[in-house]
Amino acid sequence: MRIERLGEFGFIDRIKSMSPRNRRALMGIGDDCAVIPFSRDKYMLLTQDMLIDRHHFTAANTAGRFIGHKALAASLSDIAAMAGSPRFYMVSLGIPKKMSMQFLDGFYNGMKALARKFRVELIGGDTNRSEVFCCDILVVGEVEKRRMVLRDGARPGDVIYVTGELGGSRGKKEFTFVPRVSAARRLVRHFKVTSMIDVSDGLSSDMNRIAESSRVGALVFEKDLPLSKRAKSVNEALTDGEDFELLFTVRDGKNVTDKGLSRVAGVPVMRIGRIVAKKEGVSIIGSTGRKRGLLPKGFDHFKT
Ligand code: ADP
Ligand code: MG
Repeated sequence: MRIERLGEFGFIDRIKSMSPRNRRALMGIGDDCAVIPFSRDKYMLLTQDMLIDRHHFTAANTAGRFIGHKALAASLSDIAAMAGSPRFYMVSLGIPKKMSMQFLDGFYNGMKALARKFRVELIGGDTNRSEVFCCDILVVGEVEKRRMVLRDGARPGDVIYVTGELGGSRGKKEFTFVPRVSAARRLVRHFKVTSMIDVSDGLSSDMNRIAESSRVGALVFEKDLPLSKRAKSVNEALTDGEDFELLFTVRDGKNVTDKGLSRVAGVPVMRIGRIVAKKEGVSIIGSTGRKRGLLPKGFDHFKT
């Protein structure tokens, strides 16, 4: 069998099912970050992401600083999805022999500017020659035990929210977005956030990941989706990746309103649906009022 039949997520499930159970890690494969013991009241968070020329971007026509920004921002976004604070990063590179130093300096400048903003420190990495440019960034963060949010805490009746706008992110937003670290930190201080994920593969896939981890269903309203002006269609906004917004659920209460959450988060937050029982599945109510399944049709590296 070839890997394309399994797909990216079938492959990851297979690795997970074939690996021994974690003994010391609180979370291994299966969330935005791995979670390991750290101190009496904090966990350490680890997340790693790889970008490859001509798969994730085109180095020939994109400035190095945009790629450096995206590479680090994508990992900071995974720390945000756990409600954590990023602290350190390591950078491993595969570099073609003829690559220009202008590109590589730009790449580091892109990371440096973002690192300064989030006060994360570069602490190492690895350098190799390769046929195509690729980079792999590891970010280490921390989170108070009582504040950490996984994907598995959503319950029927919880309200589903998303930050910012969805869709049309390729080409511009993906290279310039500010990871939602401070929005997440503020939200968990004021509200009972029961599950959270960053939308990196399209809302349809990432909503299904929360539903699966939490063993619940979800009902999303198309009319409430905060579509970006750049999104070509609702379908594109649901299935295209690279939005890097936070999708999360909040236990309902009288102060749980779009306005209240937006004020606390410091960014626009929209209520887009509600968690329902698992047997009801994950679905979306279209603009005509018709309900259809919200299938995980987001980005998969081996299925496109
Ligand atoms: P995200 O999109 O949030 O970065 P991914 O979809 O890349 O997360 O990964 C999902 C989970 O699978 C994560 O827990 C990640 O650490 C794990 N994972 C991905 N690839 C591998 C691999 N090759 N070996 C082991 N674990 C992996
Ligand atoms: Mg993620």
